[in-house]
This record gives sequence, C-alpha cells and structure tokens, in this order.
Amino acid sequence: MICPIQLIRPVYTPWLEHEDPAVRANTILCLIHQANYLSDQQLGALEQEFNEDGGFSEQLAAARIEHRQQQKADTAPKCPQCGKIMALRTAKGGKNPGSQFWGCTAYPECKGTAPA
Ligand SMILES: [Zn+2]
Repeated sequence: MICPIQLIRPVYTPWLEHEDPAVRANTILCLIHQANYLSDQQLGALEQEFNEDGGFSEQLAAARIEHRQQQKADTAPKCPQCGKIMALRTAKGGKNPGSQFWGCTAYPECKGTAPA
C-alpha cells in the first residue's frame, strides 16, 4: 500500500520548501483542511453504512439468526398431515407432560404431530 504522503509530497514540495515561512504555513493549513474534508467524507460514509446495515454486533446477530433458521429448516420434519415445517414443542399436559414432540407450525388449524 502506498502511503498518501508519498503521493502528495511531490505536489506540495515547492510550497513546503518555500523560503517564505508564510507560504509554508499556508500550505500546511491547506493540507489540514484537505485532511479534515476527507475525514468528514469518510465519517459520512461510515454513518450511512451503519444506518443501513447496523453495527458489527448487529450484523453478527443477524447472521447467527439466519444460520439457526437455516439449520431448523434443514432438520425439522414436515407435517404428516399438511406438509408444513414442524416445530419442536414441549407437552404441557397429556400422557407425558414436559416431554418434547414435533408439532405443526400451522397449529391450531392443523393438529399434526410427530415424535421427537
Ligand atoms: Zn400440519
């Protein structure tokens, strides 16, 4: 990677090495203004990116949620009655309260179940 100083130095050398200290000082002020302008542009772009895509941890959480949903879609069985994806549920009553089973995600319209 080329250092930005290597690129701009030849352009500004005549003024940075000028015999009049006022010219040298004005050149340095000009470079500071340019650096500020470029920093503002960079910050504006980062702010826009943050507003559109969220921060790093937010992107990590979104990727993890998507991965988990994909895993569920890959491993969950299809309902024997309607063919929709089933969700792992915990029995609240019945013969074995607290045990897990697959229940249709279309419940209560579909009452399809499968053993976990
Ligand atoms: Zn079903």
